[in-house]
Amino acid sequence: MKKIAGLLALLLMLTSCAPTSKYQKDFFAMDTFFELTAYGEHAPEALEAAEALSMELDAELSATDPESTLYALNEAEGGAVEGSIAELLKIALPLCKSTDGAFDISLLRLSQAWGFSGGEERVPEASEIAALLKSAGWEKIVYENNTVTIPEGAGLDFGAIAKGYTSQKISDLLASYGVESAMLSLGGNVQVLGRKPDGTLWNIGIADPSDDTRVAGSVSVENAVVITSGPYKRYFEQDGIRYHHILDPETGSPAESGLLSVTIISENGALADALSTALFVMGEEGALDYWREHDGFEVVLITEDGRVLATEGAAFTPAEDSDYSYSVVG
Ligand code: AMP
Ligand code: MG
Repeated sequence: MKKIAGLLALLLMLTSCAPTSKYQKDFFAMDTFFELTAYGEHAPEALEAAEALSMELDAELSATDPESTLYALNEAEGGAVEGSIAELLKIALPLCKSTDGAFDISLLRLSQAWGFSGGEERVPEASEIAALLKSAGWEKIVYENNTVTIPEGAGLDFGAIAKGYTSQKISDLLASYGVESAMLSLGGNVQVLGRKPDGTLWNIGIADPSDDTRVAGSVSVENAVVITSGPYKRYFEQDGIRYHHILDPETGSPAESGLLSVTIISENGALADALSTALFVMGEEGALDYWREHDGFEVVLITEDGRVLATEGAAFTPAEDSDYSYSVVG
């Protein structure tokens, strides 16, 4: 009996000392590469479920796939909603309001006119932009009793929030399977669950927007999401001018805010994603004012004139070879 107990104790010791196994799942969804890494015995089945969930959310939330739930809703100019669309409306509409419309989920037809949400990339005529702007506007979206009404000539676009929402859902799902350590990259936007298997913090690089093969610096995080918005992620050129995918809801054209990128660090994926886009539109002053007036996130701004500004809680470390000047904002 003693012998068996001793053997059992030895076995237990061995399993607790064994390095935690690493599992990976990479696939294409939401127009980008999902690279999911999870650790521990529950990781394989949890990652299977995470892929299925990602595909499900993609099939619901794509603004461009004619088979998607959102596509049908836009075509019908509204209707009854449930699941992820209902949840996203509940999260997104208050953010449209609190950002004073810098974040606006009603810009789909404008984004399409520029060729950023399907179709051919082109610079629309000023009159076309003016007409589409008139139809758009989050304030005209009516959402009550689980039914949404979309303004005529407008369309819902969750492109600025869906990936953060999804990485949060994946992180919650992995946790529900008992996974304690994971890193999820959705096209470079990163969400981490817990700490690294060795108990230390994750170091997440923030791209240098002038050369995204390099990093401008990194942040040290646990249980957090690190999401960056910037023109460098998607643009086209016409007659020597660059046009990018983040639209200023006031002008209907690419936002010119003096920023190269905005990174949000938060424990809330959907919030971080929406704010990365909104604070980009606001520019340096508006972004920092918004940060001072709201809780639940930290910010790293990179400006066109070569500065990196990080809020106190961002735990940002500049890269040693960085060309940017660096300051902490209080
Ligand atoms: P992100 O990469 O998170 O900044 O999201 C950019 C995407 O969000 C674009 O490709 C559009 O689909 C959509 N979008 C563009 N401008 C806005 C805006 N001002 N508010 C909300 N969504 C936007
Ligand atoms: Mg965003």
